[in-house]
Amino acid sequence: MSSPHEYNWRRLSVGVIGGGIGGMSVAIALRRAGHEVTIYERNDFAGEVGASVSCAANGTRWLHEWNVDVAKGDPVVLRKLINRDWKTGEPVSTYALDDYEERWGYVYNMFHRQYMHAMLKDSALEEEGEGIRAKLLVHHQCEDIDLVNGMITFTNGKTVHHDLIIGADGIGSAVRKIIGLNPEKRPSESSCLHANVRTEDAVRLGLVDYSKHDALEYWGGQEGKWDKIVLSPCNGGRLLSYYCFFPRAQGDYTNHTWGGEDLSVEELLAPYPELDRHVFGHLSIGKEIQPWRLWVHQPYPYITRSMVCLLGDAGHPMMPHQSQGACMAIEDAAALGILFSKAYFSGDVHETLSIYQEIRLPRATKVQSAAAKAAYNINERIGFSSNTNNKLYSVENEKGKLTIEEMNGYDMYKHVDEVMARRKGRSYKENFKDGIPLDLKLPNGTPVVEVARL
Ligand SMILES: Cc1cc2nc3c(=O)[nH]c(=O)nc-3n(C[C@H](O)[C@H](O)[C@H](O)COP(=O)(O)OP(=O)(O)OC[C@H]3O[C@@H](n4cnc5c(N)ncnc54)[C@H](O)[C@@H]3O)c2cc1C
Repeated sequence: MSSPHEYNWRRLSVGVIGGGIGGMSVAIALRRAGHEVTIYERNDFAGEVGASVSCAANGTRWLHEWNVDVAKGDPVVLRKLINRDWKTGEPVSTYALDDYEERWGYVYNMFHRQYMHAMLKDSALEEEGEGIRAKLLVHHQCEDIDLVNGMITFTNGKTVHHDLIIGADGIGSAVRKIIGLNPEKRPSESSCLHANVRTEDAVRLGLVDYSKHDALEYWGGQEGKWDKIVLSPCNGGRLLSYYCFFPRAQGDYTNHTWGGEDLSVEELLAPYPELDRHVFGHLSIGKEIQPWRLWVHQPYPYITRSMVCLLGDAGHPMMPHQSQGACMAIEDAAALGILFSKAYFSGDVHETLSIYQEIRLPRATKVQSAAAKAAYNINERIGFSSNTNNKLYSVENEKGKLTIEEMNGYDMYKHVDEVMARRKGRSYKENFKDGIPLDLKLPNGTPVVEVARL
């Protein structure tokens, strides 16, 4: 049976500005929905970031729905989150993910960014797969968009026209500015240096083989301190990606850019005289040491204007402490894929983008704010926020904290149905509120919707 919208559905010519994680994801979602997609990327990907990226179940589910060949991403499937004592390295809070796939239907993948990007790019551009393969034009930096007629101008002088334009151009988004948003932002209180350690180098030197734990491991992050080391294994465990946080007063990298000359190991180790010697040993052999600029952005009041919308970091840049930046970009892409599909798109781009904003902005904003809180309190981090029996557990607001249930129990299709029903003045009778099942409970018995709504 054809859907009620199929009659009015039309194929759109879509321009995606930015070919990063979000840009490739939305190209996949929209080609599958039947549209013609061109991605415009300012670079040529030669300088892609060499670090890990988390893809929890709420991101992984879409990779499977889109038939992405996840094995190409060479992931580590996470089994645990471990929070360790800063000085001794002893575990202080562990969140086991043994039943994670059983509970949420999908695994928690840890990818290397370059592999994840290549995996998504193949899926977007290859001939096989549903819909028309997306086109990619590199060395196309968006300079301006005419919001009346959908004309994009690039710095290379070229112009193109599209029915729908997606700003997936990352944290420093030009499209954001073009649609009139001037972010209120401030440098974070903490700085971050990233280092890579090859597992074989660590093992050869007799250091702990952290790759065997299949875990995201955290040192510190308790008691309101900014010091924290985050270890995430990727490339099947062969690479250990370390994010090393410390107070900005001890080193300000706000104006450094990723991709410059590598920093020295001495600079990396300087803030950590008291750190557990096991992980300190790993950092001592760290390579490709690069600063990661951390800016705290206040939520944006809107993410769409005319035929343009923002996606991923362009629309809701967040601190890395919930490991949800990539997942939120993937969810944005999924929402656009659903809303512009034959089942839902009735031909009105503006109306559809306003539903996109209604679906995406509150959820992404909540993760954004929870990510800022988790910067100085690891108990706010999804997973650890469920460890209420841990003696160091404390969160700012028990009702309102971000939970694994809220992230992974969310059903975007139900959310879309509810919003569409409301807009059409129809009652919505399913057992869901904002995509969260009404009967889904936290381990303490509180319904998740009660916590998620705050
Ligand atoms: C070092 C590092 C580690 C990270 N680790 C994690 C993690 O563990 N977990 C997690 O979930 N997230 C992580 N993130 C964040 C995550 O990578 C981003 O949230 C995610 O990539 C968002 O995707 P995006 O497409 O919005 O932005 P990006 O992937 O940054 O892509 C933006 C793209 O737009 C292009 N572009 C910019 N301006 C223009 C323009 N004017 N015209 C054309 N193209 C343009 C850029 O060149 C880039 O290719 C990390 C980020 C970094 C830098």
